[in-house]
Amino acid sequence: MEVLSTQRISPRLASIVLGGDALVGFREPAPTAHIKLFLPSEDGQLAVPVVGPEGLIWPDGRPSMRTFTPRRYDAAARTLEVQFALHGEGLASRWAETAVPGDRAAIGGPGGGLAVDPEARSWLIAADESARPAAAVLVEALSPQASVEVHLEVEDEQEHLLDFDHPGMKVVWHDRSTGAGLVEGVLGARLEPQTQVWVAAEASAVRRIRAQLLVDRGHPRAQVTVRGYWRIGQADHTDHDFGDD
Ligand SMILES: Cc1cc2nc3c(=O)[nH]c(=O)nc-3n(C[C@H](O)[C@H](O)[C@H](O)COP(=O)(O)OP(=O)(O)OC[C@H]3O[C@@H](n4cnc5c(N)ncnc54)[C@H](O)[C@@H]3O)c2cc1C
Repeated sequence: MEVLSTQRISPRLASIVLGGDALVGFREPAPTAHIKLFLPSEDGQLAVPVVGPEGLIWPDGRPSMRTFTPRRYDAAARTLEVQFALHGEGLASRWAETAVPGDRAAIGGPGGGLAVDPEARSWLIAADESARPAAAVLVEALSPQASVEVHLEVEDEQEHLLDFDHPGMKVVWHDRSTGAGLVEGVLGARLEPQTQVWVAAEASAVRRIRAQLLVDRGHPRAQVTVRGYWRIGQADHTDHDFGDD
């Protein structure tokens, strides 16, 4: 696929629209689904793996794949928007920071995602920058009658810019620059017995939030979805981190 356009939603969140015939047959992604993004390695070569009997086989033995969220898919226009948290290091973050129209990447997927209960009227969503695109897709998929409290952890006030909305939405920002964070932030969140909860962020943070919700606040397990989207000190964290170990 080819980069068609790039835009900064906020200083640390970049939007990149990809296009190309590879999108023919791309399935409509479920809310919070993910794709695999294949990026050029440091030497500029874009390698795409083939599926072998024991997993992916890379032509040059060097995997350069990361997990991202399809933020907006337009089947007619054959475009796919992906949003990148710019965190300073890492193959994908660096690529997104400097990408220009004409640059190439490849994708696989989509996979996974949440079956949103259309009857659910109360939601609590918590995300850091990596999960903001998925949180946005989820908010947009909720019933207009729902009420949703969205807790977002960001670096500072310059990041308080949203590209999504909902009639029943209340947003609570947690700025790391002031010492705030999602773990403490979710402690004060509104939680009714029927509230559906979706949390995605750094792996150890989501484990602490999960314990708070299930153990300290006794929220029903079936209503809590937790995902570790990245892990401090680890490249290419798994896309199967359910925060339950
Ligand atoms: C289902 C799913 C959907 C995801 N969707 C998105 C998405 O739409 N947008 C998005 O930006 N991310 C998303 N992520 C997270 C993304 O896959 C990881 O952040 C990934 O590690 C980024 O790759 P990288 O090459 O930039 O950094 P890597 O090379 O993987 O990591 C390099 C270093 O940076 C650190 N690091 C990685 N991510 C972050 C971060 N967000 N903040 C601070 N430090 C970090 C790592 O701990 C490591 O030390 C998703 C993850 C999952 C599992």
